[in-house]
Amino acid sequence: MIPYARQSIDATDLAAVSEVLTSDWLTQGPAIPRFEQAVADLCGVEHAVAVCNATMALHLACRALEAGPGDVVWTSPNSFVASANCALYCGALVDFVDIDARSYNISIDALRAKLEIAERIGKLPKVLVTVDFAGQPCELGPIAELRERYGFKIVEDASHAVGARYRDTRVGSGELADITVFSFHPVKIVTTAEGGMLLTSSPELARRLRLLRSHGVTRDAALMENKAAEPWEYEQVDLGYNYRLTDIQAALGYSQVARIETFLSRRRAIARRYDEELAGLPLTTPWQHPDSQSSYHLYPVRIGPESPLGRSAVYRALRERGIAPNVHYIPIHTQPYYRARGFSAGDFPQAEAYYREALSLPMYPGLSDDQQGHVIASLKEIL
Ligand SMILES: *Cc1c(COP(=O)(O)O)cnc(C)c1O
Repeated sequence: MIPYARQSIDATDLAAVSEVLTSDWLTQGPAIPRFEQAVADLCGVEHAVAVCNATMALHLACRALEAGPGDVVWTSPNSFVASANCALYCGALVDFVDIDARSYNISIDALRAKLEIAERIGKLPKVLVTVDFAGQPCELGPIAELRERYGFKIVEDASHAVGARYRDTRVGSGELADITVFSFHPVKIVTTAEGGMLLTSSPELARRLRLLRSHGVTRDAALMENKAAEPWEYEQVDLGYNYRLTDIQAALGYSQVARIETFLSRRRAIARRYDEELAGLPLTTPWQHPDSQSSYHLYPVRIGPESPLGRSAVYRALRERGIAPNVHYIPIHTQPYYRARGFSAGDFPQAEAYYREALSLPMYPGLSDDQQGHVIASLKEIL
């Protein structure tokens, strides 16, 4: 089967992991800050905090921005459930903003309209979790203007968008989002098996995130009550967690980040070929916002009413030809857990309409020209 996504591990990655395994540190060692610095340098941001996965990174982001009981966090329904669950972990409520019919990211018009209503009824969100769907950065320029007007914070769930660009900066530059979150799951742009990172230009947020990552415990004299602490003493000053990444994973991540330009250019070449060779077919290839340069985590096409076969039939027909596409995403608010909390089908019609037609085609650096040719030929045959 040709999968929709797959990691790319080479001999340098193997050597990096092997080296750290025989070093003095398997966790809490020097591979962590080295990896953090490499990602910070890539994005042009001051602070990067590595954690065990992006789900926990989103949790820490909401904690650090003090979302809690009585607060509301808004996000996109067109995302993985983690983008919404992070608010519930903190005791806050979740609500959604429908997506734009072309970019599949949060609609700026829908956001503006919802904020106007929320202000009138006194229910403005504390945090907006934006999602860079498929690797295409969301429109943070206008979203940051709305932040100035309404006073919420921005967490950018850039799990798909490591290496992508918005206007003149890399995603994660810290210029527009308060906190940006990356995922290093094997299907994403670079991998540490499980892993995630938080990026911010705020030293205060970075300090809080580091504290929460490791039990809320500090040895930093500036943060401790006891100003005459012995060298072995530490103090717990907040309720944190153990959300640490290991040095083994960080070594893999460092090696992967060194390869990122190769990954990105291969993904863009695959996208260009799909764009060109699928152009005449009865499906919609992904539209790109002129301000955004996608990292192409996914290549999502829409199988709409002009197609002779529906999305599900195309999905099955591809599988019969040895291709395993995927579907991103079942709208979060239609999940049983969220329906039990007051949401219904019909609440966010653009996300639901998109989901009915969505199909993510194989997209990963190791996809060969022949394999991609087979995907394209199969679609031509099926449609
Ligand atoms: C993958 C993903 C996550 C979760 O990432 P993990 O590292 O697996 O926890 C969160 N949000 C989005 C949009 C994702 O695609």
